[in-house]
Amino acid sequence: MTKHDHHEHGDHSHHPEAPSDIEARTLALESLLIEKGLLTSEDVDRIISAYEHDIGPMIGARVVAHAWVDLDYRARLLNDGPAAIRELGYDYPASTGLAVLESTKEVHHMVVCTLCSCYPWAVLGLPPTWYKSAPYRSRAVVEPRKVLEEFGVALPADVSVNVWDSSSDLRYMVLPERPEGTEGWTEEQLAAIVSRDCMIGVARPQVPAEANR
Ligand code: FE
Repeated sequence: MTKHDHHEHGDHSHHPEAPSDIEARTLALESLLIEKGLLTSEDVDRIISAYEHDIGPMIGARVVAHAWVDLDYRARLLNDGPAAIRELGYDYPASTGLAVLESTKEVHHMVVCTLCSCYPWAVLGLPPTWYKSAPYRSRAVVEPRKVLEEFGVALPADVSVNVWDSSSDLRYMVLPERPEGTEGWTEEQLAAIVSRDCMIGVARPQVPAEANR
């Protein structure tokens, strides 16, 4: 069993406890800024959305794109995720491990935290709400193919599905398979099709229709 005792990044939204000191101070500060007209709730939502969709996941996406174009780098990434991420100039905390899982035509990897919401923040930013939800946490293990179908990923029966249960000591990130039709693309173009969900393993990178004209 994996050890599951704490979250060093302070994600306690699923715990029925009073807000921590930091959370209470953050809420108080947010209320004050809104009251003074310096900030709106929409600003806050926009910033959170940026962390959810751009800033955080873009680090992971650039790591994936680099691994797609540089096979030696891919080998280093699969062997030692944190070292390979630091190699590209990004920070990765020394306190947690990160295993990078390579999805192929034979095996599809999918990540969950069954006990709480352990998540590779350093590369993927904020976890989506559904990742922390009880249904995802239980169903990902019991009926992963059904969950994947609901996310729009229909896997042929001969593709095995591996579900990985994250812990506070060891987080996971999926290295999805590079899709066909992306030959000759720049790393920037490649990174743009690697979404957060692709790196959790509930989506696969899609080549936009206009790229195939
Ligand atoms: Fe957890």
